[in-house]
Amino acid sequence: MTPAEIPSTAPHVVVVGAGAAGMMAAAEAARAGARVTLLEKNTKTGVKILMSGGTRCNITHDTDAKGITQAFDHAKRFLQPSIGRFGPSDVIEMFHCLGVETKREETGKIFPVSNRAVDVRDALQRSMLDAGVRLELRCSVKRIQPPSGDQSQWNIATELNGNPQTFLADRVIVTTGGKSWPGCGTTGDGYDWLRALGHTIVAPRPALVPLVGGTETTHALSGLTLPDVNVSVFTSDHRSGKKPKVERRSSWLFTHFGFSGPAAMDVSGVMTAYDRIQDAKMRLDLTPQISEAEIRDVLSKRSGDAGKRTVVNTIQQWVPSRLALAICEQSHPANVHCKLAELPGKECNLLIEKLKRWHLPVNGTRGFAKAEVTAGGVQLSEVDPRTMQSRVQDGLYIAGEILDVDGWIGGYNFQAAFSTGRAAGRAAAHGHDT
Ligand SMILES: Cc1cc2nc3c(=O)[nH]c(=O)nc-3n(C[C@H](O)[C@H](O)[C@H](O)COP(=O)(O)OP(=O)(O)OC[C@H]3O[C@@H](n4cnc5c(N)ncnc54)[C@H](O)[C@@H]3O)c2cc1C
Repeated sequence: MTPAEIPSTAPHVVVVGAGAAGMMAAAEAARAGARVTLLEKNTKTGVKILMSGGTRCNITHDTDAKGITQAFDHAKRFLQPSIGRFGPSDVIEMFHCLGVETKREETGKIFPVSNRAVDVRDALQRSMLDAGVRLELRCSVKRIQPPSGDQSQWNIATELNGNPQTFLADRVIVTTGGKSWPGCGTTGDGYDWLRALGHTIVAPRPALVPLVGGTETTHALSGLTLPDVNVSVFTSDHRSGKKPKVERRSSWLFTHFGFSGPAAMDVSGVMTAYDRIQDAKMRLDLTPQISEAEIRDVLSKRSGDAGKRTVVNTIQQWVPSRLALAICEQSHPANVHCKLAELPGKECNLLIEKLKRWHLPVNGTRGFAKAEVTAGGVQLSEVDPRTMQSRVQDGLYIAGEILDVDGWIGGYNFQAAFSTGRAAGRAAAHGHDT
């Protein structure tokens, strides 16, 4: 269908922002019978899709709707209706129907078989254009005004190819994303418009972001990846036995500035919620696959051949040799060449502390410039979770990362963008709850 074939009496829905949520919303609204115009400030659609997952695009995760919502901390309940209606298997099926076959990797992440993010972006773009969506690129929205007085429609002021142009709409869907990677066009524009319309914006902060910190020892380990660690974050007044604020088991990367990799990035959003990130205490279990008791058992072997092994050599069975050496040097330089039979009990305890409960200082993050998502955004209590309709302003719908939702690495964030975008598109076409 072309835009010209859609009856002019159909309601006009304007979608602002052609990312995952916006393209999904536009396609759904058009399929549900609306005239749809999608406005995007960039010269192309889906810039973040194109760069995502190392340009492979991790579109969702191999789990059910509940498994997806678990990744969203306080936003779990809000996301249940939209992800419940359109979950990971629906996303996979949708891409299959659009000609993009997908595969599951060992970690549970779902990628296109082609490993090409551009295939995902092209499929979404084709789908919405086929549904009759009119796409306006190089169209930067400046202001959104609701109907008032004689004016029965929304007024959307833009700069199209550098010239002022106004669009009128019966309903508006805002899908302008967050503030992270601003070079992609995501400069947080939508927050100001929605604040002016009466919405509360929970202070945006970087999430899924590399952490700045560490010590001389950890900096010297720069480039070392650990495939399986368990990282926990505690409040500074933490007493033993208290539950961590967040805990994630995944891979880890030491860097010259601090820490990166999925485990560090997954806990970063909880850490940036503290007024001072230093008040969030991060603790690493380097060997979650082996218990403290088993480690103690091995390190306590004093007799026979076992006692003749060096400490560093023994620890190398659990962690890479560079790290084993660093841990030994940290606990006591003499431990490096020490034999197990000669290891004092106190030193043994110190080594176990490092292996199972290594406290690592964090004093910042790489900021929005390197954050894969933005935490904070439109307060969820002000949006209907089934339709994404604003509870503050009639005719307004809000979907995707601009909402106060942020999930783990692994395809969870695109899943949330697809599900909330779909819900918004369907509801906006009808102008009431679906
Ligand atoms: C490097 C990187 C890798 C990532 N990899 C993954 C991954 O593999 N899997 C995953 O699930 N998530 C990943 N993410 C997160 C994911 O990209 C986002 O969660 C997702 O793109 C959010 O979709 P959205 O549609 O809400 O917003 P966005 O995709 O950010 O789209 C918002 C759009 O709105 C446009 N816009 C903004 N302001 C205006 C305006 N004033 N006028 C007109 N248009 C405007 C922007 O230009 C943009 O195109 C990654 C993020 C980054 C930065």
